[in-house]
Amino acid sequence: MRTVITGGAGFIGSHLCERFLQDGEVICVDNLLTGNLRNIEHLKSHPKFHFLDHNISKPLEIDGPIDNVLHFASPASPADYLKHPIPTLKVGSLGTHNALGLAMAKKARFLLASTSEVYGDPEVHPQREDYWGNVNPIGPRGCYDEAKRFAEAITMAYHRHHGVNTHIVRIFNTYGPRMRLNDGRVLPAFMSQALRNEPITVFGEGRQTRSFCYVDDLVDGIHRLLFCDYHEPVNLGNPSEITVYELAKEIIALVPGCTSEIIHKDLPQDDPKRRRPDISLARRLLGWEPQVDRAVGLQRTLDYFKTVI
Ligand code: NAD
Ligand code: UDP
Repeated sequence: MRTVITGGAGFIGSHLCERFLQDGEVICVDNLLTGNLRNIEHLKSHPKFHFLDHNISKPLEIDGPIDNVLHFASPASPADYLKHPIPTLKVGSLGTHNALGLAMAKKARFLLASTSEVYGDPEVHPQREDYWGNVNPIGPRGCYDEAKRFAEAITMAYHRHHGVNTHIVRIFNTYGPRMRLNDGRVLPAFMSQALRNEPITVFGEGRQTRSFCYVDDLVDGIHRLLFCDYHEPVNLGNPSEITVYELAKEIIALVPGCTSEIIHKDLPQDDPKRRRPDISLARRLLGWEPQVDRAVGLQRTLDYFKTVI
């Protein structure tokens, strides 16, 4: 089997490269905008692994047959997409178009990495796939949310109009080794602050919630989804919900001797107040359920950050 993974040098993409190398050849396509070659350093000498330095917002041709195209290229951390709003809009629109074109030409399976951000600041809780969301298209997060909503729309159009075998995963907050220590997301931020005994920066009062899924669970769900006969979006995430303030306390407790205090900074505009996936569909369709508890996943992630700090 030959699998193309766009964004393969990023956090989730690098774990997918590992998983799909078990099934055959992997072509990792990445322009290193927010990714890093260090994430795939251990795969470079693998005879079936290939790296292509390419911006997927520009057309891509690859020789030979391809069985799967997984489109994961896109800045994902709010700090990253706020810094790169136009590349984010381009990779969600032009990039998805190009990745779909490749899948169509090769008659390959296609899987889009969508996001819980398509629900915006949700007014329905927990979020089910049939909820249409509450997105501010012109707010600062709009460049990401709307790019992903467009990406879903063009993916469904390629499925309905061209018969491409497409899949859409709506990923909820995922964490684990190879997240960038300084990508601004809450988990790397709190862990690096705790490891350095610096103040933990909780935005707002920290009453907003998230539900964190360990990356191995996500990768397992994605693998199942790609090979199933279902074409509409599927939520993948861990329904265990926690406030940002409680998360800060859990991380402080995890670092021996940590004396960090919790400080508060302004809550960013349009920051979703509550987020938790309804995963009934994934359970039914894929027999999938997260296996890694937060305590275990946080410890593994902390052990990784200790090696890079
Ligand atoms: P990441 O920033 O670590 O990885 C994204 C990768 O895409 C990077 O390696 C980056 O260099 C690459 N990239 C960006 N623009 C590109 C372009 N134009 N051409 C080629 N490569 C490009 O982020 P991540 O957390 O691994 O997220 C991966 C995907 O999963 C993204 O599509 C993101 O929207 C989605 N997602 C992630 C989460 C999460 O919690 N991590 C949640 C929802 C959705
Ligand atoms: N957050 C925080 N302190 C930080 C970084 C983030 O309190 O240093 C909060 C942020 O306001 C949000 C939550 O943590 O409510 C998750 O933020 P993240 O950037 O990880 O991802 P999001 O789920 O918002 O895309």
